[in-house]
Amino acid sequence: MTTTKSDSHRLTDDKDLYSGLIRLHVLHHAVKEPIFGLGMIEELSHHGYRISPGTLYPLLHGLEKKGYLRSSEQANGKSRRKIYRATPLGRKALTAAKKKVRELFHELMEGE
Ligand SMILES: [Zn+2]
Repeated sequence: MTTTKSDSHRLTDDKDLYSGLIRLHVLHHAVKEPIFGLGMIEELSHHGYRISPGTLYPLLHGLEKKGYLRSSEQANGKSRRKIYRATPLGRKALTAAKKKVRELFHELMEGE
């Protein structure tokens, strides 16, 4: 998905509308590889989402609390950082969500 600068500004105003998409995006990456907060903020920025740590970290905690992600500590130079991976439940939830997103995608794009 490519977005212009004015698009990404508008996204911050439509945060509620996009929060589910951002969760799915995070889950998608956590299924593929271990993710960490700052890396995910950068990844999302490539897709036109400007997310602050103050938004992303609670989102990650929320996904962990629901059982979709599992965190562990990883050494990063002298410091340690928290990395997240999808759990089997997270994988299942993503598979189910993909079907719904595919359907929505087709309906949204109909006639375009
Ligand atoms: Zn991505």
